[in-house]
Amino acid sequence: MGANQLMTAEPESGKPGAVVTRSPEVVDALQRNAARIDAVYQAAEVVGDDDPSMNRLLRIAVQLTGARFAAFSLVAEKRSIVKASLGFAPDIAGLMWPLDQAVVAANHLLAGPEIEPIESPLLRALAQQGIAPAHYAGIPIRMPNGLVVGVLSVVCASDIAMHPELQKALEDVGALAEDWILLRSASIVDVLTGLFNRRYFEELVAREWRRSLRHLAPIAMLMIDIDYFKALNDGLGHEAGDAALRQVATILKAQFRRGGDVVARYGGEEFVVVLPETTAETAMDLARAALRAIEDAQLKHPDSPYDALTVSIGVASAASAEEQRRGPIWLLTRADQALYEAKRKGRNRAVFDPASAYR
Ligand code: GH3
Ligand code: MG
Ligand code: MG
Repeated sequence: MGANQLMTAEPESGKPGAVVTRSPEVVDALQRNAARIDAVYQAAEVVGDDDPSMNRLLRIAVQLTGARFAAFSLVAEKRSIVKASLGFAPDIAGLMWPLDQAVVAANHLLAGPEIEPIESPLLRALAQQGIAPAHYAGIPIRMPNGLVVGVLSVVCASDIAMHPELQKALEDVGALAEDWILLRSASIVDVLTGLFNRRYFEELVAREWRRSLRHLAPIAMLMIDIDYFKALNDGLGHEAGDAALRQVATILKAQFRRGGDVVARYGGEEFVVVLPETTAETAMDLARAALRAIEDAQLKHPDSPYDALTVSIGVASAASAEEQRRGPIWLLTRADQALYEAKRKGRNRAVFDPASAYR
């Protein structure tokens, strides 16, 4: 298929699945929208819920405008993902999408008459609660590549007198939110692979662990190490090594994508995966599937006895309450022991924690 041809379900010809030619402008717009949605979900991973820094910015926006409510939302295709809010009942915050989406489309601050005509379930719901008239103002939050991922918004009970100084101050608050997202992302994402780094892995695992303890759900961990990686670097060069790390990271990210799954780069050519609410059996099945996916990708490794790049995986699980009380470091050590066994047995395989009752 050519660059400006797309498969459509309902093409103009009426035949499902036929190939139609679209104008370059339409293709460009579709691609830009897809890139924007990708950026939204990336931002959703790095911006935590109810983050204290974001809450501070919302408090400033409230002070500037005299608003009753403020929210920071990431704007997906059909919904706003509200990451922080002040004064909102959660069900009301979920109604922001049409207004937020209008700000995304406009790509500049919207307030007053520009936004009033938009049919909004939020303002309607507020009216039902006796909060009327309600006035919305939203500032787009952009990534450095210019894509708008979110909106910082306020809802006031009286009309917002948007004089130039106020507009500038609100835009400054928006710019601070953008800076904060960027810094946060740089501190938790590994630049080479785009995966979470070890620091964030430790932060996340501590959180998941508390959740698992509360729900008494099993939690599994995988330690994944590329086989004969030193030989690949020596044979093909460091740049080919870097490319291989990126390819393995992409495959792992695609393999473990259930909500709550975490894939991180643990160190040089080592990755770690945390699977909440996952039994030992399922964790082993997933580890084997990951091995197959990497094998199927046929990544170049001329000096491997397997004639392609492979990985070894150690798997461990904390299923009982007693095991979970031992904590994440204990589980990580179990997975590392299992990885050592996988290496010893010849690599390119997954081994379950040899000290566990489960085999
Ligand atoms: P094994 O099969 O036992 O795992 O052997 P190995 O060669 O994979 O393991 P070893 O620990 O001996 O070597 C790891 C190599 O990974 C050494 C190091 O140069 C390389 N490495 C670590 N980080 C990076 C990186 O960011 N980029 C590249 N290109 N190489 C890296
Ligand atoms: Mg290693
Ligand atoms: Mg290795």
